[in-house]
Amino acid sequence: MAAWVLLPIGASEAGWLQDMFKGSSQPGKSPKHVASPKPATSPKRAILAKPAASPKPHTSKLAALGPFALNSPALKPVATTCDPAKFRIVLDVGHTAESEGATSARNVPEFNFNLRLAQRIEEKLKAAGFAETRLLVTQGKARPSLVKRVATADNLHANLFLSIHHDSVPDKLLENWEFEGKKSHFSDRFSGYSVWVSRDNPDFKMSFSFAELVGKEMKAQGLQYAKQYTQPIMGRYQHPLLDKETGVYGHDQLVVLRLTRMPAVLLEAGSIINRDEELKMDSAEHRNIISSGVTAALKEFCDSRWAILGPL
Ligand SMILES: [Zn+2]
Repeated sequence: MAAWVLLPIGASEAGWLQDMFKGSSQPGKSPKHVASPKPATSPKRAILAKPAASPKPHTSKLAALGPFALNSPALKPVATTCDPAKFRIVLDVGHTAESEGATSARNVPEFNFNLRLAQRIEEKLKAAGFAETRLLVTQGKARPSLVKRVATADNLHANLFLSIHHDSVPDKLLENWEFEGKKSHFSDRFSGYSVWVSRDNPDFKMSFSFAELVGKEMKAQGLQYAKQYTQPIMGRYQHPLLDKETGVYGHDQLVVLRLTRMPAVLLEAGSIINRDEELKMDSAEHRNIISSGVTAALKEFCDSRWAILGPL
């Protein structure tokens, strides 16, 4: 799971990160304040209120990226078709071969699931014309790998960053069982995909817009999102649900979501600690379903972006 395997920024790094965000990036760093229709007492409350409320169309360019805003009479797009060949998406394979992330109920490393799914998404995107799609496989230990991912995506001048993961549960919820004679752990309690964004990403609006499209497409494929992250049982892994229709959660501290200079989204495709869902996640059929959903979401995102902001 992203919350504990992707290594949120620790206290020791908070200092230099704050320094990094001082000065020039500070005003742009707070879309949540800009987006809020009225003064709010807390930034979190401001952004939480936003997706559900907003009866009026937005007028700013970035806020207009959603399909809802595109229908506004004030915004007549000149062209509504993007050129996928020019769109650079980085598909980040969560974790590394050395630092494999979660372990499934049947003792398979999360990294294996992430790699296979990301490869399938890459194939589908390229087949759909997104020729500049880059699969990002990182090596080495977990924490330095996060900085490498961000640097690589920045150097590629990516238009979008999508990190692929599979979910687990906090250790306290694990139960014991035996699989092929080996002591193993599982939790069948929770299941489902989830989509994550950081409100500290410099382009939070676009991140959120893409995250909603991904969630919408997962839902259209008949999938349900993981609901547990708002529940007290998750303890310090509780996170705000930013869109209750599509399953978009906010996690501001994740390095790859907050430090990338482009819109960034993390997809937890499903739970591999849930014994039934692990089998599903292991099937080519399910990888196809998720890949098709991501491809449809990217097409929509690219079209919206093109219509509002013009060619890349
Ligand atoms: Zn992960």
